[in-house]
Amino acid sequence: MTKLSWLEIPSDNDFGLDNIPFGIFSVKGHKRAATRIGDSLVDLNAIQKAGLFSDVNLPEDIFNQDTLNDFIALGKATTNRTRARIQELFSYDNGELRDNESERLNVLWGLYEVEMHMPVKVGDYTDFYSSREHATNVGTMFRDPNNALLPNWLHIPVGYHGRASSIVVSGTPIHRPKGQTKADDAEVPTYGPSRLLDFELEMAFVVGKGNELGTSISVEDAEDHIFGMVIFNDWSARDIQKWEYVPLGPFLGKNFGSSISPWIITMEALEPFRAASPKQEPAVLPYLEMKKDHNFDIKLQAIIETEKGDSVTVSNSNFKYMYWSMAQQLAHHTVNGCNMNVGDMCASGTISGPTPDSYGSMLEISWKGTKPVAMPDGTERKFILDGDTVVMKAFCEKDGKRIGFGEVRTKVLPAK
Ligand code: MN
Repeated sequence: MTKLSWLEIPSDNDFGLDNIPFGIFSVKGHKRAATRIGDSLVDLNAIQKAGLFSDVNLPEDIFNQDTLNDFIALGKATTNRTRARIQELFSYDNGELRDNESERLNVLWGLYEVEMHMPVKVGDYTDFYSSREHATNVGTMFRDPNNALLPNWLHIPVGYHGRASSIVVSGTPIHRPKGQTKADDAEVPTYGPSRLLDFELEMAFVVGKGNELGTSISVEDAEDHIFGMVIFNDWSARDIQKWEYVPLGPFLGKNFGSSISPWIITMEALEPFRAASPKQEPAVLPYLEMKKDHNFDIKLQAIIETEKGDSVTVSNSNFKYMYWSMAQQLAHHTVNGCNMNVGDMCASGTISGPTPDSYGSMLEISWKGTKPVAMPDGTERKFILDGDTVVMKAFCEKDGKRIGFGEVRTKVLPAK
């Protein structure tokens, strides 16, 4: 049953009282932690200063920080108690804050009054490649339709180490990257702005509990190490990527930027939307076996907005299409003893569904540029143009209950 609040929450809102995400905001440059309820931003530092978290046993100034890393590191027992206390404070029958006007004015902000920031300091970032449909589409386009998946793909959650420094929050524009590309019929490469700039519709999880170097995290324990999730747009320059990726994989075609949604949605909020993974055939090795469902039913959308204001939804996908679960990704990532740290981010890889309207990148949607998308203004898109804004949304809906991620919104500016 969806909980009711004394704050107004529109019925189709992503941020009802069952959600209680965590983020970092600022007013006049002062960064601190917040949650969001409906279209109100809730200053958690102000709640603590008012003494309303006294039963939660939080360290002083835990929310008066630039990132959530220290709060997340307190562990799920404490972060869950914090969520439960916030739900209690904002329940329709609780007057502790509702009836205290001066404290209420300190705590509540309109979204238009604040600026959102990176919610965590990301130490390390890994990108997986876990959608079978995406891997099959890319293999079909660039290699061989009859052997689209490489021999390792059904046995290993394939991934690569990405670049943490260029992960930015929603609203931060991205400049078109420059680099080396080589046309198929050219003898030598040339240097210049990428002509094949693409998005990748992904989700990422935030590590909430690390492991010591030399130890591993099991599939069963993995979700205890995951604090929550964000929407992740893994910007990709296909022409740079194509020329550089052999033999060591993605590099400058990827590390110029990735964009995330500002609110971390906790695994506890997502629990009602747990779902089965696609059947894994052949059977995986024992260290990757799952004894319960580790997937989640999260609806995903990618939208292109033009500078004139036209907007076209180019993809309707779902996180549940993922062949490899987050639990398997984390177990595989650490099976060799690799240590994870609080705040590390692991992205899913492009999440494509079975039909063309559910493909998660322009590379697939336009099928290497052979099937352009018509825009309302008469132009067409094979890839992303300067001035375009790419918006990604994610939400769960079941039995009248909705939990959402909001959006990640990024405008593409011309090359510098
Ligand atoms: Mn990616």
